[in-house]
Amino acid sequence: MLELHHLSKTYANGTAALRQFNLSIQPGEAVAIVGGSGCGKSTLLRLISGLEQASSGSVVLNGETISAPHPEVGLVFQEPRLLPWLSVADNIGFGLDQLPKAERQTRVQEALARVGLAGQGNKWPRELSGGMAQRVALARALVSRPGVLLLDEPFSALDALTRSDLQDHLVELWQGSRPTLILVTHDIEEALVIADRVIVLRPKPGRLEAVIDISLSRP
Ligand code: ADP
Ligand code: ADP
Repeated sequence: MLELHHLSKTYANGTAALRQFNLSIQPGEAVAIVGGSGCGKSTLLRLISGLEQASSGSVVLNGETISAPHPEVGLVFQEPRLLPWLSVADNIGFGLDQLPKAERQTRVQEALARVGLAGQGNKWPRELSGGMAQRVALARALVSRPGVLLLDEPFSALDALTRSDLQDHLVELWQGSRPTLILVTHDIEEALVIADRVIVLRPKPGRLEAVIDISLSRP
């Protein structure tokens, strides 16, 4: 269970990106967070991932407070953010340096297969299409077998066909291992394809509020 308690974030320049935000997410839920630009969606994901510290309030995952990047949490951004000087396989295995080499290789091959890129580990990032690069970013997030997968507008830079392909693939992946999935998107159609709960945010003077929090049934 992931719980956000009275989460607030004010940046150093005085911008209050989140105020007193509360949310509970059950294990294995796929939640989409939808809202206009600047309403605090990316801030929310950065706080949950531990990349950014809350000004007050807390992020609690299975009873444990998260305040630094956590191996149980995988993150995918709008851009793949691959390291150009590393092969695809080494990009995916980058965070696994504490594992023995053989185990690391097995995990990397498994992650590549899960995103439909089996056998492509020797490629370089510059050789990949946008959609393939984003699959690699997804594999990198999955390789530590996270219980929580955070996706910040993961497909919005892709063309429509590739986007729809990857959306379907993400649903399959999620159905396979059921991580808690939190997708930030401004695309309501994408939210409806991927999520089984959609939360629409609206900034209100003084605080962010969830205006809609609906659970959907899967066809
Ligand atoms: P969204 O993802 O919904 O577009 P963000 O979380 O990126 O919203 O931003 C929320 C607000 O916080 C915006 O006003 C944005 O300009 C501001 N903000 C985001 N990151 C920073 C930062 N590092 N420093 C200062 N202000 C920021
Ligand atoms: P996106 O819209 O792709 O989610 P963001 O709005 O979160 O991107 O911004 C991208 C980067 O710029 C982030 O690292 C964020 O911290 C920073 N940023 C966003 N708004 C501001 C701001 N008002 N002042 C300083 N940095 C900001």
